Amino acid sequence: MRVAVARPLLRTFLYEGPEGVQLKPGQRLLVPLGNSKVLGFFLGWEERPPQASLKPIEAVLEEVPALTEEVYALVRFAAKHYRAPLGEALKTALPPGLNVPKPALPTKRRKPKPMPRIGEVLERPAQLSAEQREVLEVVLGGLGKGVYQAFLLQGVTGSGKTEVYLRVVEKALEQGMGALVLVPEIALTPQLSGRFEERFGQEVALLHSGMGEAERRFHFWALREGRARVALGVRSAIFAPIKHLGVVVVDEEHDNSFKQEEGLRYNAKDLALVRGQQAKATVILGSATPSLESLYNVEAGKMRLLHMRQRIYNRPLPDIQLVDLKALLAPPAQTPPPLTEPLLQACAREKLPTEAPSPPEALPLQESEEPTPEEVSLLTPALHKALEELLLSGQQAILFLNRRGYNRMWLCSSCGKTRKCRHCDICMSYHFKVQKLQCHCCGWSEALPELCEECGGTFLKLGFGTERIEEELTAAFPAARMARLDRDTSVSPRKLTALLERFSKGEVDVLIGTQMITKGHDFHGVTLVCMLLADMGLSLPDFRASERVFHLLTQVSGRAGRGERPGKVLLQTYYPKAEPIAYMLRRDFEGFARMEMARRKMLAWPPFSRVVLLRIEGKNPSLVERFSRQLACAALEAISRSPSNVRVLGPSSAPISKVSDKYRWQLFLKAPSYAALELPLCAVEQVVATLPNSIKVVIDVDPATML
Ligand code: ADP
Ligand code: ZN
Repeated sequence: MRVAVARPLLRTFLYEGPEGVQLKPGQRLLVPLGNSKVLGFFLGWEERPPQASLKPIEAVLEEVPALTEEVYALVRFAAKHYRAPLGEALKTALPPGLNVPKPALPTKRRKPKPMPRIGEVLERPAQLSAEQREVLEVVLGGLGKGVYQAFLLQGVTGSGKTEVYLRVVEKALEQGMGALVLVPEIALTPQLSGRFEERFGQEVALLHSGMGEAERRFHFWALREGRARVALGVRSAIFAPIKHLGVVVVDEEHDNSFKQEEGLRYNAKDLALVRGQQAKATVILGSATPSLESLYNVEAGKMRLLHMRQRIYNRPLPDIQLVDLKALLAPPAQTPPPLTEPLLQACAREKLPTEAPSPPEALPLQESEEPTPEEVSLLTPALHKALEELLLSGQQAILFLNRRGYNRMWLCSSCGKTRKCRHCDICMSYHFKVQKLQCHCCGWSEALPELCEECGGTFLKLGFGTERIEEELTAAFPAARMARLDRDTSVSPRKLTALLERFSKGEVDVLIGTQMITKGHDFHGVTLVCMLLADMGLSLPDFRASERVFHLLTQVSGRAGRGERPGKVLLQTYYPKAEPIAYMLRRDFEGFARMEMARRKMLAWPPFSRVVLLRIEGKNPSLVERFSRQLACAALEAISRSPSNVRVLGPSSAPISKVSDKYRWQLFLKAPSYAALELPLCAVEQVVATLPNSIKVVIDVDPATML
């Protein structure tokens, strides 16, 4: 029999199989490999080659295969597409306890405790909005007809997308089918799982890594045995063993966290379309700001675009007000220059005041004089005023800053050197509470240095983190009830939930947080959202940097004004002219997407091309460099042998050139199609197989980040 072993080996093996046993593809086996016994997966029966002496397998580990036929087919596709070893890929699709070379443990029969509820219980609304009805009519039209259909649901934040998902799932259940709902984060959004459990009770199986292993196995078997028919989970739930799958939903489809960044580097959003096709199911990708990839698929006729442009009850989207941080640096202008006609128009369009503070274009600063972003407190006068008003009226605010800790960096005031992690090529962040410098890359922390190691100079302590803004706010508003939500304060799901619960009950006025507060929360008391420093992430060397900033800003601002009172957003930036920020101020996602699409096309970046990232890592920098060049040569040679439109970019040192003492180089292959990549990638893989063990090569197909 042909067997894939759960090891990082691209080849599969032949074993002697037991006579007269019925096996299904994907069935778990115990097989000998070298001196050990490992988990293997049955692939199929094969003629035994003449003269071959085959080892017999040790055992069949299960009578009922944990992997269903459908999931098995999906993993086979994924392993091929993402160029991962099949055995390892199959292992990825299994929950803990089943991904080991042992028989399955008996599972508990009792349903584990549901997630704690946050906020009011949201009843099934009796009436849908007109837009919800229209969308549902289209989607439900094809549901259960045994045909594949894919939709991109572009709906502004608060337009009631979740309610649409709930209704589609409800309908699928009524028709005897199952449903798969993927979300970026569950631990962060207990509200969402609450809504599903409220509606579907025992039918819901939650799948995410914040749960205990026994719990995860319970939910897995509940689905496998058909006791639960709705899987709600993070990316790994794409492999959930759902019976008669009728609908697949991917919420916040633009989110990066659908991409797995190790082992089988799959993107669950892309696999959702594959799985939907295989199961002849309905697929809905939803977002307020769809990814360019999905918009491209709409243009290519692979998906149908559905819009929801209004918030529920026609609640207004929050007003966005620009706070130009540069203006706070500029010397007090005697008389602001008069506004020219185009500027006046721009101001009217963006609802900016036409008096001071003057709009960005009128500022006297040159690009080269651009100050470092550290010189202004992020608790700006505009924010101060907005908070004052907010606190008086008893409403709530969310302040977003995508960096934890106190200072972003320490820089020597005499030699200018920044304090870096000794294991990584990045600046250490200062954490006030623990009085340490910490590396946000590898977690290394060290005692605070008094003076610069190089020259004995003193340090400038630069940049804002959530800890620092919390301190400034507490000093400015001693009576306000503040809370901070980041990886330092929310170390466990329980702490996180407790904090969100306090906020939802109105026991916290101002919530300061990192990316963790941006995802899908629905707090009706929030009327003010401030993006303390919107520029963050703009200058990353990644072709998706702008797109990502736009998504993030939309997500964060979408948290405001979801209740009865309208919301307001303050967008603080040093760089109002940056495209994502300028378009955001105009609320023009379509314009942004058009502009970004044109640029991608011109530079032939995805979605107009296929990209594979090769990252070469090792402790010895010169070896890493040498082998990177060797891989690039192998690719180039393969391309020259059969001329195609494939381009090799690099090799070069990676943007973060060292992580955990390993040096990193990278190169990209860019091609018009996956097929064109086949030959160069095979050539690269052949070289990789000959490299010493001290060198690790990551092959990332459709990488989500270029860093
Ligand atoms: P989105 O996912 O588009 O951001 P949600 O689905 O979270 O929006 O809906 C926003 C709010 O509106 C939620 O509080 C939800 O309970 C409520 N809501 C959704 N649909 C309706 C409806 N038809 N009638 C009343 N309230 C609704
Ligand atoms: Zn480090």
